[in-house]
Amino acid sequence: MTDNDPKYVFHSWSAQATLNPVNVVRGEGSTFWDEAGKSYLDFSSQLVNLNLGHQHPDLVQAIQTQAGALATIQPAMASDVRGELARRVVEVTGGHFAKVFFTNGGADANENAIRMARLVTGKRKVLTMYRSYHGNTTTAITATGDPRRWANEPADPSVVHFFGPYLYRSAFYASTPEEESQRALEHLEQTIILEGASTIGAILIETIVGTNGVLIPPPGYLAGVRELCDKYGIVWIADEVMVGFGRVGEWFAWQADGGAQPDLITFAKGINSGYVPLGGVVISERISQHFDNTVFPGGLTYSGHPLACAAGVATFDAFERDGILARVKDLGERIVRPTLEGWLETHPSVGEVRGTGLFWAVELVRDRETREPLVPFNAAGPANAPMVAFAAAAKAGGVWPFTHFNRLHVAPPLVITEDELVRGLGVLGEALNVADAEVAS
Ligand code: PLP
Repeated sequence: MTDNDPKYVFHSWSAQATLNPVNVVRGEGSTFWDEAGKSYLDFSSQLVNLNLGHQHPDLVQAIQTQAGALATIQPAMASDVRGELARRVVEVTGGHFAKVFFTNGGADANENAIRMARLVTGKRKVLTMYRSYHGNTTTAITATGDPRRWANEPADPSVVHFFGPYLYRSAFYASTPEEESQRALEHLEQTIILEGASTIGAILIETIVGTNGVLIPPPGYLAGVRELCDKYGIVWIADEVMVGFGRVGEWFAWQADGGAQPDLITFAKGINSGYVPLGGVVISERISQHFDNTVFPGGLTYSGHPLACAAGVATFDAFERDGILARVKDLGERIVRPTLEGWLETHPSVGEVRGTGLFWAVELVRDRETREPLVPFNAAGPANAPMVAFAAAAKAGGVWPFTHFNRLHVAPPLVITEDELVRGLGVLGEALNVADAEVAS
């Protein structure tokens, strides 16, 4: 590696002098290679965006073809490829959805969805969950319910956090999914009442909480959110930036949950695997109509960039031709679930496994009885050493893992072959021996 990166590149979320990033020189499918020629199976799909893997030939070809025809066009002009992508997004969303507003990524999708909700309701406050991530712009980072928000406070003063369902570490002393669902909804309604329904424009939630734990809402929770939003005149924004476009074997994760429809859906990442930055908001008919004769006061130079949209259209083609949604469900149930559930028998550091499709979390604990996490919340430095050692063992075995706090997440590209999936899970299982050594005997 030349010294250009350490000398000139300012990296995200980091103290710069502490960094030693892997220098990636090549990628193909689920694998990437560093400059020494070592290969890694990418079990985090980069930042859970690389749904179709590295260097997918269809996406590369689509970008090249579009670059040859029309590399860029400003958003006030129409473009066929942008229109086609918007149509295909609306078609797979179904239900009451009508239009798409394109952004550059997930944070600005959330910013603009919140802006729409505020304009439609005339109410400013936004409720979001603790244990969530919504992006790194002013309102999105305030909406975020994890430590990345702390250094940015106060930012947008109109955001209030509440507890979402998380049965393994229930804030409501619940012992069944039904109890967790009902009590989390009661808590949300109390929050609405005490914050003042007349002040709340939006409830923004990750349909399945991603980085903060792969928390799948228990039965009835999303339907309950829908009811509360209708009762109190609040817009439900579903953040599907991480789980949209196939991660859990659906176009959007809310579609698996009994049919309660959000008002706005934000997306990014999987729409085109991040080959060219792209995000957006899918807008319901009702909210879309509000802006038929009222100006929407928002825009971006690169909204619906043709190269990004071309990769998005190619993504739809590949998903449909290769049956990606069905294979995600199949691999998740046939291979990932039994392997991870097997770890509960063989690895004392595994406290819980949960997930669906190709999106799973493994909670690592010191003690299964007390559920004490393997490392404390937001641990850094020596306190985080066991997780660092676990990740190092995985990398030494040729798997690039996704770890967050005391958890391993399993989120490989959706095109991973069965052999690769089995091999990678084998390496992660071996690496768990490092975590087992920390368990109180
Ligand atoms: N929302 C969720 C659920 C995310 O996981 C992320 C990114 O990880 C974002 C929003 C922000 O997306 P971006 O980094 O594209 O701004």
